[in-house]
Amino acid sequence: MLKIKREKGIIFCCSGPSGVGKDTLIAEVRKKYPELVHSISLTTRQPRPGEVPGQDYHFCEKEEFERLIESGEIIEYDVFCDNYYGTLAQVLREAEAGGTDIFLDITVAGSLRLKELFPDAVLIFILPPSQETLIERLKARRTEAESVINSRVEKAKEEVKNAAAFDYVVVNDTIKDAVSCLEAIVLAERSRSGRFLFN
Ligand code: 5GP
Repeated sequence: MLKIKREKGIIFCCSGPSGVGKDTLIAEVRKKYPELVHSISLTTRQPRPGEVPGQDYHFCEKEEFERLIESGEIIEYDVFCDNYYGTLAQVLREAEAGGTDIFLDITVAGSLRLKELFPDAVLIFILPPSQETLIERLKARRTEAESVINSRVEKAKEEVKNAAAFDYVVVNDTIKDAVSCLEAIVLAERSRSGRFLFN
């Protein structure tokens, strides 16, 4: 009897402008596929109201973050609006080796860096239907000051230019459609023949 086994877990990197809804989409996909892990990043930014340490992010001081970069415990990181954000090496390596599929919500530069380190990683760019919608969503969130919103919008314009370097683009117009699209990507990537060992 032919035995087929998937060799490694898949790393799904989601990038896209701040406020585009990456977190919501990942959470919705995980409701249907709870075995998908969401990587919890490390950041030096202050927690927003309602954010839970160890669940939304691991929050730490700048000195601690820099120590972890030095020691190689942070596999990729970026500076976003004056704060550090990074992925813990151990989380990714464990997921990949253990056959667990993992979702990351990271900057464009972070995704491109991970693709260099893990060429099988799947890069997904989440786009807003328009710039106006993005600004409305950031304002509706009511978690950032006007100046922070402006710098996030500027950063978004810069990041969108890199969408073509990603494997997939998902437009988050309605959550339902965007979630269906993400689920389709997960299923397609899980079915790629190159990810299986046949014997
Ligand atoms: P926020 O402050 O809105 O939670 O996140 C700001 C940006 O940092 C978002 O674009 C988010 O995707 C990105 N980010 C969060 N965690 C990481 C990480 O571990 N690495 C990188 N490169 N970016 C991250």
